[in-house]
Amino acid sequence: MVAAGTTIGKARAGNHATPARVARSGVEGRQVIGHASDIVHCDGPDSPHAFDTVPLQPRTGSLDAKCPVCHGHGQWNTEIDLIGFRCKRAICDRCHGAGWIETGSDPVGRADIVMTPEGYPQWVVAFDP
Ligand SMILES: [Zn+2]
Repeated sequence: MVAAGTTIGKARAGNHATPARVARSGVEGRQVIGHASDIVHCDGPDSPHAFDTVPLQPRTGSLDAKCPVCHGHGQWNTEIDLIGFRCKRAICDRCHGAGWIETGSDPVGRADIVMTPEGYPQWVVAFDP
């Protein structure tokens, strides 16, 4: 343990001895160590990385077919980091995020918020005409 501590101490002293080089490599190090990123912006569901790490939505209820816009994902990346995979996503307007659509005449429910008589907002399933 004593030997290891001594080695670390010498390394730190060595870095302090060349402040100009340390400062320059410090800037580069910020991009390489811990914060590496390769951020790609996606214009829409047709972009190459639009569905990276976006899971397919399970089919629920009576919905018939995968959404033609988001291809069953319900959302897509508007921005994704190809190294860290942090992303910003947009919800599909066509299927409201369900990933599936109704092709027949069955009513399709969607999440909506209404005000209760008591004055509190409440989630409900609304049906478009
Ligand atoms: Zn969709």
